[in-house]
Order: sequence, then structure tokens, then C-alpha cells
Amino acid sequence: SSKNAADGGSGDVRLSGIGKTYDSFTAVHPLDLTVPEGSFFALLGASGCGKTTTLRMIAGLEEPSCGSVRLGDQDVTNLPPYKRPVNTVFQSYALFPHLDIFENVAFGLRRRGIKSVKKQVEEMLELVQLGEQARKKPHQLSGGQQQRVAVARALINHPKVLLLDEPLGALDLKLRRQMQLELKRIQTEVGITFIHVTHDQEEAMTMADTVAVMNGGRVEQLGSPTDLYENPQTTFVADFLGTSNLIEAEVDSKSGDEIVLTAGDGKLVLPEARCAAPTRTGGKVLVGVRPEKITLTHADDAGEIPVGRNRVTGRITATSFIGVSTQYVIDSSVCPEFEVYVQNIDRDTRLVPGADVVLHWSPAHTFGLDAAQD
Ligand code: ATP
Repeated sequence: SSKNAADGGSGDVRLSGIGKTYDSFTAVHPLDLTVPEGSFFALLGASGCGKTTTLRMIAGLEEPSCGSVRLGDQDVTNLPPYKRPVNTVFQSYALFPHLDIFENVAFGLRRRGIKSVKKQVEEMLELVQLGEQARKKPHQLSGGQQQRVAVARALINHPKVLLLDEPLGALDLKLRRQMQLELKRIQTEVGITFIHVTHDQEEAMTMADTVAVMNGGRVEQLGSPTDLYENPQTTFVADFLGTSNLIEAEVDSKSGDEIVLTAGDGKLVLPEARCAAPTRTGGKVLVGVRPEKITLTHADDAGEIPVGRNRVTGRITATSFIGVSTQYVIDSSVCPEFEVYVQNIDRDTRLVPGADVVLHWSPAHTFGLDAAQD
């Protein structure tokens, strides 16, 4: 959606100061969040971080302790779930076992007293690619197919927003991957807003346009998957979305728009714009780099690599072949378990446990985090 969130597009979901407290325990601290109309939005976080509570407040299944929920121009905070233009798909598909697939999908239409449902149900079954299965009962379908029925059933009344609460949690990994792409395709086709709750970072990254990473009842960072991965603002986000190879470093000086830091007996360089920590001289910064951004060189060949710009020496302690790439664990003076991924096509056969190596990477792939934030 190209709508300007600040103006509040006509179909945006807007949470303002919404929070939830149980007795003295705060599950969700008051938060402001705008989900643009037509986007695929993910609430991502570990168990207990408040993502389901947030989703349930949007659905109307949980009463907020404070704040408001708006859908476009409408304040829905005090509306019961069935009066909100939203629908929810749960992990437990909650299909009616005695009804066939057609009737499961038709249910929402029939309940509204609509008699001629055939065309709409058939279209919906086509959308989720279950046209052939219309007369089967839920137990005759696979888990992934049942979940697609649940999606079709939730979409039949044309909600403005579809809420998905860990919908793929019960599926095995391979099916999960297929369904991620499938849900993404369905969302693109119907064009409505999807808000998806998951604890699986890969799932959120695969599907969502925008991800809100939650921790301890707060949104820690909001952004596109690539932005969160490449520019994490907190150690929690950096570690939750992959391996960050954090190095404790001390700010040494500034040179142009770069910060020079000392770590052990080496120097690290980082663009100031990529540093989320204060940068006064002598201050501590955690410097991170993703494993696939690092070049790994056998120590015998490392003579040309300039000292003083993100060059670290170490020794390989473990390797593991992971298909397209190999993962190396390196004990270096600045980080005891440096992880590096190298594409197998570029692999040097001397890189085995015990080998002395040099790691180096570009300042452009380096990020700085506040060492004192937690
Ligand atoms: P999960 O993935 O495990 O569902 P979540 O991130 O979705 O986790 P929530 O279900 O939103 O987390 O719960 C947030 C916190 O609020 C948890 O610590 C939970 O124990 C607490 N909580 C949820 N419902 C209640 C309730 N009815 N009474 C008291 N505490 C609750």
C-alpha cells in the first residue's frame, strides 16, 4: 500500500495507546501501531511476549485495559468481535467435522441468511486450490488442506482484515514452508490486510511486508524483513533474527562519517549511520556482522588483507556442511564463537578444524548496538 500511514489511510488498522494488564501483570504495554491497508503484517516474538494478546484486542476477543483500535474511519474498540469487519484463523482449524468442505466454507454466508452461495463458495475454494475437495469431510484432508479451508471460511464474508494466530503451528516443516508461500499468494490475490502472529522468524521474514518484533509486551522494532535483518536496533532483534557475532568494542575516534573502534588488539570500522549506540570516545559498543557477510581466508593467504579495517584472526573449531553453504565456527580473540557461512562453490579445502584463518568484512555490513541497553 502506498498510503501515508501518518494520514491514516481509509482502511488502515490503527492501535493507539493500546495495552493489556492482568491484575498487576502487564502483558502488553501501551503501544501505537499502524498497519497499512492491504499489507501483510507480522507480529513476531517469543512465547509470552504479548503478540497473541495484541491480535485478540484487534479481533475484539480481549478487552484492552487502555487505548483504542480503529479500522479506517471506524473506532471499533467497544464493538463485539462479530460486529468488526475482521475475521480470525486459529492454529486449531476449528472446522465443523460433520460438514463437508463446501458447507464449512458456506457457513458464514448461510448464517447471514444468504441462500445462493454456490458461486461464492466455489470461487473461494478455487482461491485456496481446493475446488476438487468440496465434498470431502475435514478428516479426509491433510493438515495443510484443512488450514486452507479455515482460510477460505474466514474470507467468505469479505473481512477488511484477516487475523492469523500461529495458523501454521501444527504443520510439519516442509508443509509449513509451502503454506507460507500459499498464504502470501492468497493475500496478494485478495488484497486485504493480513496480520499474522508467529514466533518463527523465518516465517515472518518470508511472508510479511512489515514485521513488528515484540519483546516483553513491547514492540522493539518495526520494519521490513531486510531492514530488521540488516539494521537491527537492539541486541534482542539482532539475535532473534539470526546470528549477529557480537563483538565488544570501545569507541576510539571518528573519521568522516565512520566510527573507529578498538576490539582486542584490532580495529573495527562502522558507518556512524549504522550505529544504534551512543558514540562518545571511550564508550562501549557491541559491533555485529551477519555470518554470510564475512570473507574467510586461510592465514597463509591473508597477507593482502589490510589490518585495521574489520580484520580478525582466529582458528576454526568446527565446520558443518549445510547444503548450499558450509558453516564455520571460529574461536577469535574478540568472539569465542564467531559464525561464518561460506558458499560451497567458493570453499577452500584447507578450511578445516584447527586451521588458522583471517575473517574480514565491509564496514557497510557492520552494525553497532548499545551495550548498556538491557
Ligand atoms: P504465545 O505464543 O505463547 O501465545 P504470546 O506472545 O502470544 O505467547 P500472549 O498470549 O499474548 O503471549 O501472553 C502475554 C502474557 O500475558 C503471557 O505472559 C501470558 O502468561 C499472560 N496472559 C495471557 N492471558 C492471561 C490471562 N488471562 N491472565 C493472566 N495472564 C495472562
